[in-house]
Amino acid sequence: SGKFFVGGNWKCNGTKDSISKLVLDLNSAKLETDVDVIVAPPFVYIEQVKNSLTDRIDIAAQNSWTGKGGAFTGEISVEQLKDIGCKWVILGHSERRHVIGEDDQFIGKKAAYALSQDLGVIACIGELLQEREAGKTFDVCFQQMKAFADAVPSWDNVVIAYEPVWAIGTGKVATPEQAQEVHVAVRDWLKKNVSADVASKTRIIYGGSVNGGNCAELAKQEDIDGFLVGGASLKGPEFATIINSVT
Ligand code: 13P
Repeated sequence: SGKFFVGGNWKCNGTKDSISKLVLDLNSAKLETDVDVIVAPPFVYIEQVKNSLTDRIDIAAQNSWTGKGGAFTGEISVEQLKDIGCKWVILGHSERRHVIGEDDQFIGKKAAYALSQDLGVIACIGELLQEREAGKTFDVCFQQMKAFADAVPSWDNVVIAYEPVWAIGTGKVATPEQAQEVHVAVRDWLKKNVSADVASKTRIIYGGSVNGGNCAELAKQEDIDGFLVGGASLKGPEFATIINSVT
């Protein structure tokens, strides 16, 4: 459903030098044309990346503020992100939920504001290991979906990223069947709670220890519409392999 979508979430990694090398690698990589590709550099390097990276790849921010700018020390507004050329923002990432402590309502507010200003939203959901082991994977994902659904005015500019927390940065990738099962459930949730149209059009991408070796099997799954990649997106050639795993 929809064009394959691959995002590279660089998280809090990189220096001017390492990023300039990564950009060179990405600029010289051969990328399949029918894939939407984005990278999300740390805020302080967005301008460097924007000025040096091929236009083939769009830029996402890793966070944004809930409303207009002003007296919010340390925050970055959606208007500022758009001003420097960002097209997307990643919201609800597990590191922001579980390390920084953002809750569903706060994340929903950010998503609604970003969309109101035409910034695309990569809306992340996913369960903790203990939640999976307790049989609560769907409950957790549906609750996170509901918080987005209650907040967003439209799903036109939203990509959902299913990122099971136990798979992020652990090398323990979800099996293709585990990922497919949740993607189907989320699509079904959208069908029942939003609309059949949104369910069929919205891209649901997978994240969590995706690499050049496991992407092809995952990409074959019918409801996996792309990937959100952390560690492996810091290596240009491997990220290109993941982009080119589109089936
Ligand atoms: P890793 O690919 O490093 O597991 O990270 C996934 C992720 O969190 C992408 O947002």
